Order: sequence, then structure tokens, then C-alpha cells
Amino acid sequence: MINKKEILKINNLHVNTSNKEIITGLNLSINKGEIHAIMGKNGSGKSTLAKVITGHPSYQVTKGNIFFKDEEITNEEPENISHKGIFLAFQYPIEVPGVSNLDFLRLAYNSKQKKLNKKEIDPLSFFELINKKLKKIDMDPLFLNRHLNEGFSGGEKKKNEILQMSLLQSELSILDEIDSGLDVDALKNISNNIKKFANEDNAILLITHYEKLINYINPNYVHIMDRGKIIFTGNKTVASNIDKYGYDYISLKK
Ligand code: ADP
Ligand code: MG
Repeated sequence: MINKKEILKINNLHVNTSNKEIITGLNLSINKGEIHAIMGKNGSGKSTLAKVITGHPSYQVTKGNIFFKDEEITNEEPENISHKGIFLAFQYPIEVPGVSNLDFLRLAYNSKQKKLNKKEIDPLSFFELINKKLKKIDMDPLFLNRHLNEGFSGGEKKKNEILQMSLLQSELSILDEIDSGLDVDALKNISNNIKKFANEDNAILLITHYEKLINYINPNYVHIMDRGKIIFTGNKTVASNIDKYGYDYISLKK
């Protein structure tokens, strides 16, 4: 690890799936207290990157490495990565009929507590904790009794991810297209909650297609990904130029 503020460091990462190289030499460094956004055309490898960081078994790292704080996490098990403090909100959250959202959240919370050798929380105290969190993000408590993601609207699934993120208090949260399919009000609400969650001790990696989210959140850095690597890093003005001129704007700039 190079410096103490660094939370994520990716060096020359190459990743294959089904014998095809998807990530082709990617470098990225994220410090504590920072919000980074990654934009890029469909198929440029954004979701693959998120999944590789969090240890998805379908992807093979063929070269390079990933560090989380002072530990190398390349090829680490997804469960360990999550317990170490990296959260990934899924682009398409799974539906789990038969498991209530409340139970799921408590299970997730307690499994992390256990791994960190901390005390597990009893159902009543958890109910109090989660209700506080719900209030903060302006979510209906009835939501807790429903089955995980079953019949949740697009916006509700996204809110639920934000709830999970704020419950687990991970040091690095990766949000893959948290803005897709949201109306303007929901987008504002989710952006505000992400901003409220961000602090000096954590970091957020947003993956998005849209300028709007970037404008609301105003990340420290906006990276553009193309064919498996980051080809440009700037601030939010790059997002508005891409919105105006398309991704060709980046190649024209070079
Ligand atoms: P993005 O999120 O930027 O749209 P993805 O990371 O989802 O891009 O995909 C990048 C490329 O990798 C695409 O061409 C996609 O088809 C391919 N890919 C991703 N995952 C797999 C997989 N499990 N098997 C085969 N191809 C995959
Ligand atoms: Mg994607």
C-alpha cells in the first residue's frame, strides 16, 4: 500500500471471462473521503470491474492486483471482501421470495458483526436500529415486512440498496447504476442519501450513464472507461460534455 489515505488501489488489472479479456489494464486509486464516478459506453466493462473488486467467481484476474487498505484482495472470497468492508449494490437486485426484508437485513448485519468478533444484535434492538435508518432515508417501515425485493418497484429496490449500504457502514461502497430507471424525485432522494452517507472515513464508487446523478452528487473524480480501461479522468464537466457530444468527446479531446 502506498499511502495511508488510500482505500482502494488497482494496478494494471487484466480480467478474463469465457476466455475473453474484459478488463484490459486498468488502474484506479481511491482515497478515504472521496467519491469517484465511472462512466462509459455499454459493454466497456464497468459492471465487470465492480464484480471483480467484490470477488465474483465468474471472472479471472490474469494480471495485476487489487488492494483494499493495506491488504491485497485479488482472488479473495466475496464473503471475506464484504466483511472487510466493501459493499456492492447489485445492478439488478435479486428477488428472494419467503425471506422478509427485515430478516435479510438482520442476517446481513449479524453476519458482519460475527466476522468482526462483535456482538450479534437481538431482533428488538435491530428493529430500533433499522427504523432509525429508514427514517433517515425517508422509507416506509412497511417495507421491512415485505419479502426481499419481491414486487419492489425499480425505485424501491434502489432505496433498499441505499438502506443496506447505510446499515452495513462499509468503508467502500460501490453503486452500479443506482440511478437506472428512477424518476427525477427518486433520483434526487437517492443522491441526497448518498451525499449524507459519504464522510471523511469512507469512499464511494458510483457507476453511471447519466450526467444528472453526477451533477447532484458532484464526485471528486469522474473516470471514463473504454474497452476495459480508464482512458480519461476529470471532474463533473466531463459528464456534461459527454451528455452533449457523446463519448466521442473523449477521443476528440485526446
Ligand atoms: P458495462 O457494465 O460497462 O455495460 P459489462 O462489464 O457488463 O459492461 O460487460 C463488459 C463486456 O463483458 C460485455 O461485452 C459483456 O458481454 C462481457 N461480459 C461480462 N460478463 C460476462 C460473462 N459472465 N460472460 C461472458 N461475457 C461477459
Ligand atoms: Mg453495467
